[in-house]
Amino acid sequence: MTTVIACPGPCNNAWRKAEVALAEHGTEHHITPAWGKPVQCYGCVERTRRELTELPKLLIAVQLEAIYGSPAPSSAATGGSSANVARWPGQTSRLLLDSIVGEMAELQADVLIQRGIWPKGTEPARPSQAGERKLIADIVASLDAHWDWAMQHHLAATEPHDRGNANPGGQVSGWHRIARRFTKSDEQRDVKRLAPCPRCHGPYLVESRELRLVNDQPYIECRDPDCGRILTQAEYDTYVKALNQAIGVAA
Ligand SMILES: [Zn+2]
Ligand SMILES: [Zn+2]
Repeated sequence: MTTVIACPGPCNNAWRKAEVALAEHGTEHHITPAWGKPVQCYGCVERTRRELTELPKLLIAVQLEAIYGSPAPSSAATGGSSANVARWPGQTSRLLLDSIVGEMAELQADVLIQRGIWPKGTEPARPSQAGERKLIADIVASLDAHWDWAMQHHLAATEPHDRGNANPGGQVSGWHRIARRFTKSDEQRDVKRLAPCPRCHGPYLVESRELRLVNDQPYIECRDPDCGRILTQAEYDTYVKALNQAIGVAA
């Protein structure tokens, strides 16, 4: 007999908070958790399945930006203190795409290995720019076909959907969120396009508006609230130089 557990997904965020308050302070609550079927709830399975199937479209938009990317128009106007900072037109998109597609290929291999149908001795597909769209479509089709299994029986299916965990649903939501924020024509467009965050690899680095150095050089901070990495302008410049060397681009 399978044991039913409370879904580890974001559907139970409020319930988990209430349970902590109950355990720590004896605060009673009347929240009932969403139960897994048997591990994750139907809502989380279907939401992550939709996010999974939206990935090809979102990633093509990121890919187009990698090919045709140009500095944000507003960057010329900001000039001044950071005029010497390397611009990241297409490179941010490229690194982001490589990292997401690489992780997708690993999840696909992981699921097929756990199900015993991964061809022995083969490696997950390495993302290459040629054939990237087909690779993404193939991985998504494969994961979609195994999604019900992955959400209930993957070894990490009971893990919370937090960054760094291997829960398939959490991973897909993470890629979806990053790709959507990257391509969305929201306030991200108004800030200078900076390199991806060295800590969480999300495209969230911005010049801080609150924290200022004495000589008026802005700090660079990660806008992802889960990450919150802060760099000085000098640290950022060093990091970008290293990145440029790593991917063979002249700064
Ligand atoms: Zn759930
Ligand atoms: Zn970050």
